[in-house]
Amino acid sequence: MFMRIDKLLAHTGFGSRKEVKQLLKSGCVKVDDVAVKDSKVQVDPQKQKVTVYDEVIEYKEYIYLMMNKPAGVISATEDAHQETVVDLLTDQDAVLEPFPVGRLDKDTEGLLILTNNGQLSHMLLSPKKHVPKTYYAKISGVVTEEDVLAFKQGVILEDGYETKPGELTILHSGEQSEIELVITEGKFHQVKRMFQAVGKEVVYLKRTKMNHLPLDETLALGEYKELSAEEMAQLT
Ligand code: URA
Repeated sequence: MFMRIDKLLAHTGFGSRKEVKQLLKSGCVKVDDVAVKDSKVQVDPQKQKVTVYDEVIEYKEYIYLMMNKPAGVISATEDAHQETVVDLLTDQDAVLEPFPVGRLDKDTEGLLILTNNGQLSHMLLSPKKHVPKTYYAKISGVVTEEDVLAFKQGVILEDGYETKPGELTILHSGEQSEIELVITEGKFHQVKRMFQAVGKEVVYLKRTKMNHLPLDETLALGEYKELSAEEMAQLT
């Protein structure tokens, strides 16, 4: 895939476009052993050898991140007023332009995947693929076996939509219950609305798993890491 040399260098950690322009001017950047000074030159980093001060640069096209999303930030790439999950990334990672795969509400915590691979994102979000997502929630109200059954059959949301079956497990039943819920769809506020449909309120929500990939609980809220090959296999 051809791309401008200045973009490639910016994407591989050699600074801003302006800094990269200076670097190119200095003559230390070579493509297949020939110095390149023009920022607009097109290169294919997979097929050509690009060096800076004779060191071959490592180019990766795609980035796959797992974040433990904190409450209070929104699942978007940019926003004029609110902090986004992309604001939590280092410049080096943000420059590859990852975006969140689907949305968690502002007050929801937990597993969020960020990638710049549109195909992967589509695969995980497509309603046809039925990718399971697991949530842990605290519920105001006593969650009962009737709710488990209702979720298994699919509940009717306030707009008339009937959900696909959800697998509800009661972890603790009381005035404030704790549950785990696995769903294969991702409608707006789906978990909260499913509980609303049975007359209960979600007071805390955290995503713990996407497909077979569990949240790495060693990540503090707001921290993230690149997925290992093994974790990628669990995700896809
Ligand atoms: N369901 C919700 O209600 N909120 C989320 O953030 C995710 C699923």
